[in-house]
Amino acid sequence: RPRPLVAGNWKMNGTRASQAVVEAVRDGLDPALAGRIDVLVCPPATLVGAFAQALAGSAVRVGGQDVHAAASGAHTGCVSAEMLADLGATHTIVGHSERRADHHETDADVRAKALAAHRAGLIAILCVGETRAEREAGRTLDVVRGQLAGSLPDGATAAATVIAYEPVWAIGTGLTPTAADVAEVHGLIRRELAARLGEEGARIRILYGGSVKPQNAAELMAVPNVDGALVGGASLKAEDFLGIAAAY
Ligand code: 13P
Repeated sequence: RPRPLVAGNWKMNGTRASQAVVEAVRDGLDPALAGRIDVLVCPPATLVGAFAQALAGSAVRVGGQDVHAAASGAHTGCVSAEMLADLGATHTIVGHSERRADHHETDADVRAKALAAHRAGLIAILCVGETRAEREAGRTLDVVRGQLAGSLPDGATAAATVIAYEPVWAIGTGLTPTAADVAEVHGLIRRELAARLGEEGARIRILYGGSVKPQNAAELMAVPNVDGALVGGASLKAEDFLGIAAAY
């Protein structure tokens, strides 16, 4: 089984005062647990540098939430993978459903961003997931298969790539799929990864995201092919985030 990853996506939340939260995660993380799992916090880009400094030498890593495909240039308001790496980030999320929806990112855009992350030496956490309408129409597996086919770069390695399955309807709603539904989608992703990447695909971590809480983490993490969690709201409180990590 791949080494689990528990990642927090802070989304557009947090100011400098929020550094107390990551310091509490750093100080509260059980060393034995840190020996078994990877722990990551992805704050807004404004906080990546300060958090990387605060977490230096600890078991907690820092990542971005998005990157531009280019390394630099005339792209007002954007942040490149190289810039995040320069601040001490080790990972970045790409293709989150909020980016796909709010910024009209296509699978091709997401693929370019994953390649940019790899170019800069960052681990790309590539998000896929169906909307409520797509699930109700029975299209979940087709949608996830298509997103994966379009946004996963050829030659992706397990060291540099993580997939996150986040059903859009489960994000921030308190709703979660059943364990059987999660198993079905993660199993599909695992088969697609193996078909595309062979043995390397068997080692790529597949996270579940969407209303993960301390109360449901153990059940979700016990599902086959669930190699960790991508946590939104509950990652903003050190106690909740540590509680989710402790599900391992
Ligand atoms: P919630 O945990 O708040 O549902 O958010 C999930 C998510 O989008 C993480 O990327």
